[in-house]
Amino acid sequence: MRIREHLAQAGEPAFRFRQLVAAWQASTAETFADVSALPARLRGELAERFGPRLHPLTLMHVQRDEQVEKVLFVSDSGARIETVVSHYRAGWDSMCISSQAGCGLGCTFCATGAVGLIRNLTADEIVAQVMHPWWRRAGQPRPASVAFMGMGEALANPHVFDALRLLTDDAYAGMSARRITMSTVGFAPNLERLVSEYPQVTVTLSVHSPFPRERAGIIPLEERFPLGQSLEILDRHAATNRRKVYLAYLLIAGMNDSDEHLATLAALIRRRSRPELFHVSVIRYNEAVGAARQYRAPSSTRVEEFVRGLTASGIRATRRRQLGGRIDAACGQLHAKYLTAPSAGTAPRGSDLIPVTPVGR
Ligand code: SF4
Repeated sequence: MRIREHLAQAGEPAFRFRQLVAAWQASTAETFADVSALPARLRGELAERFGPRLHPLTLMHVQRDEQVEKVLFVSDSGARIETVVSHYRAGWDSMCISSQAGCGLGCTFCATGAVGLIRNLTADEIVAQVMHPWWRRAGQPRPASVAFMGMGEALANPHVFDALRLLTDDAYAGMSARRITMSTVGFAPNLERLVSEYPQVTVTLSVHSPFPRERAGIIPLEERFPLGQSLEILDRHAATNRRKVYLAYLLIAGMNDSDEHLATLAALIRRRSRPELFHVSVIRYNEAVGAARQYRAPSSTRVEEFVRGLTASGIRATRRRQLGGRIDAACGQLHAKYLTAPSAGTAPRGSDLIPVTPVGR
């Protein structure tokens, strides 16, 4: 945005900005100096004013296993940002991006929540995770879908709406809004804004318990914006826009996996105005750095039973398979390991950890 304004004020023709965007879209240029379509004079001016690089993120580390690649970027201000790409056997890729450095909402199952909020990411930092030249250098195509399921509560960050505009604008990233998923623990005011401004974006609401007091112990935001408030917004959204809504249910052994939880969750969904448009994704709890120590993973059999129980109650439900168990692919864990490492700035240990020489500044 600032570059566009600067070029206009400097009296540069409009096509100069388009040349710059074309290089950015192609992810071929890392620095202004690489944008060969621009005259050398202008490249130098832009680098002097905005710094040498086109993207505000520097690659720090990459972790890989068979199907997942997880990278840790550092922003120009020093914030560490995780991005995860999953390669599905069906032949498509999905990217999980972060919206905040850390998170201030303190969900008790979450590694990022244990870190606390460092700051909101800017729209440029959010979009740069998708457009960064690293993916192209690593031989990866632009991902088929992008989910705001990384570090942070996306709807608590107002810059996310600017990021959505850049991601869906044909003049920038040009993604279909239907290929974007917004995950939220229920930041109701901005959920209302999201379904109004971007009705095609898929919404995943984290439920994790149908009982308010218990849910508040898992997701403290429940005290401020109760689950019912978000469900009412999504009710109207499903009815008006005929969009499917996903409810994430993290199954924790001995805590929220009883038959009573199952029956109450099913009843809550049956009360929706269009219950057939609500789909429950049951996720098996996975031990995370910084999460409450008393939480335990349920057996795989119990997860399957829970899904079957919901289905038998007339609720659409599936188990969400998580890729990348060997590399702690749940977002926030690599970052949390950095912050909990004995000496700050020491890379966490991991068999597939690949240090990357920072590019540029
Ligand atoms: S689950 Fe999401 S909202 Fe809750 S602490 Fe973690 S990142 Fe924040």
